[in-house]
Amino acid sequence: MLIKRITLLLTVLSLCFACQSQTQKVQKQKTTDYLTISDTPIQDALKIAYVGNMGVLLEHNHKTVIIDGLHQFYHKNYVHPTKDMVNRLVSGTFKNFSPIEFCLFTHVHGDHFSERYTLRLLEAHPEVVIMGSQQISDSIQKIAKDTQLMETVKAIPYDALPHTITKHGIEVTGIQCYHSSPSRHGQIKNIAFLVNIDGYNIVHVGDTDWDLTVAPFKTLDIKNSEVDLAVIPYWMLLERGATKKIMELLSPKHIIATHIPPNFSHRNHAVLNDKFQNITLLTQLGEVLYIKN
Ligand SMILES: [Zn+2]
Repeated sequence: MLIKRITLLLTVLSLCFACQSQTQKVQKQKTTDYLTISDTPIQDALKIAYVGNMGVLLEHNHKTVIIDGLHQFYHKNYVHPTKDMVNRLVSGTFKNFSPIEFCLFTHVHGDHFSERYTLRLLEAHPEVVIMGSQQISDSIQKIAKDTQLMETVKAIPYDALPHTITKHGIEVTGIQCYHSSPSRHGQIKNIAFLVNIDGYNIVHVGDTDWDLTVAPFKTLDIKNSEVDLAVIPYWMLLERGATKKIMELLSPKHIIATHIPPNFSHRNHAVLNDKFQNITLLTQLGEVLYIKN
């Protein structure tokens, strides 16, 4: 503990020094409990790029995972990646990111998933592991002429149990986590993911609500997994009591607020920044954050 505290103190001191020596440069950087978050490059950091709606591209040391990142226009309320971005993601030429090794989808809704883009990714890199519900797998299967491409498409059973795949030094666990508004979206199978890249733990919950996360988080014992980043839709964070719920259920070092519509009000923006000390709102397509433990 003492060593960690000293490290934190040194980090804070070095950051202060960095700020002073870079007064010309506009630099947003904050240090939370043992995590440094910056919008300018830090050496050997975990990188996270925003690719629209709940889409994030994650990379550390050439290990790359994309979650809900391959999707197209669905509705004006949802930000989606540009065609150029999709081309780069598919071909493995996204700026400063290595080619994708895991491509995860929380559910089939068009603001999270495109079977056409996923098939393009598989055609370019058949070794990429695709993970999602049976509905995701079925949607890709429907348009895939080459059935061999389906070999790396892994359907996660909707059985409330954790399902883990480890490859390329990346560990991914998926688990059933009901979609928000079950009365309306009851037939949609939503999967929450826990990703471990070089010791960084990232949770992505897809479209859900706090009460629906209780069971899967308990099964995963997620509170004791030292979550670094929690990728959460904005409505869960705006909810009354969210500060307490997130600490009780997940206790992440940093929160990444997503699913933010282009017309998100300044007021709500301020509310979230006010409510949570450790939050970043992803709103600018292509923006990159650097995170260091
Ligand atoms: Zn949805």
